[in-house]
Amino acid sequence: MTHDVLENAMREVVIANRILANERVVDAYGHVSVRHPLDPTRYLLSRSRAPELVERGDVIEFDLEGKAVSGDARPPYLERFIHGAIYETRPDVQAVVHAHADAVLPFTVSTVPLRPVVHMASFIGARLPVWDIRDRFGDTNLLVVNMAQGRDLAGSLGAERVVLMRGHGFTAAARSLQEVIRMAVYLPLNARVLAEALRLGEVKYLSRGEIDAHASMKPDDPSMYRAWEYWAVRAGCGDLLSARR
Ligand code: MN
Repeated sequence: MTHDVLENAMREVVIANRILANERVVDAYGHVSVRHPLDPTRYLLSRSRAPELVERGDVIEFDLEGKAVSGDARPPYLERFIHGAIYETRPDVQAVVHAHADAVLPFTVSTVPLRPVVHMASFIGARLPVWDIRDRFGDTNLLVVNMAQGRDLAGSLGAERVVLMRGHGFTAAARSLQEVIRMAVYLPLNARVLAEALRLGEVKYLSRGEIDAHASMKPDDPSMYRAWEYWAVRAGCGDLLSARR
């Protein structure tokens, strides 16, 4: 039984990787993790591999400090500290996506705030903080390569759902893998719509009430699974979907 729960989580990590690649949220870079379903001090993340190519055997258990629990010696993602630092800081978070989707990038380097304007993106939350690694760590290659940097990023995320990373990308945190994938897919779409609308003139953003209304949706809501199933089949991994629903 416990084995089934873990196996299912591993399989879902594969599906999540394939969806992000197929929906062009990630390319060779970017990653997605889920908190270990039986041990909150661990998370499941692929070894360093392009998300489109991730298979079940690539998924590794890490402790929150980013150390492979089984001693797996295959190279891990350099930026895995993003995941552990957020799981450590936010007990409510069950899944994390980090990506460099280009539509989001202008909002990480300009002073124009990225806020939800379309209903599918209400999940990204009312406020998207922008973290600048240079504020605390000076000139770096902009990658989050240790726990100090991960924790600084997690601090900037605070209680929000998405944190933008200056000149780099974004990190999204959610209550389930299905929810974080949905956020990661609609965040770049919202960014594209907002950038276009700003060119046209004055923009109407979602109100706080409209954002809160959508946020009341449960992470296991059938409509959440609907998108997950659709994206999984589109990504060619419908066979990995659980038969339990
Ligand atoms: Mn990155």
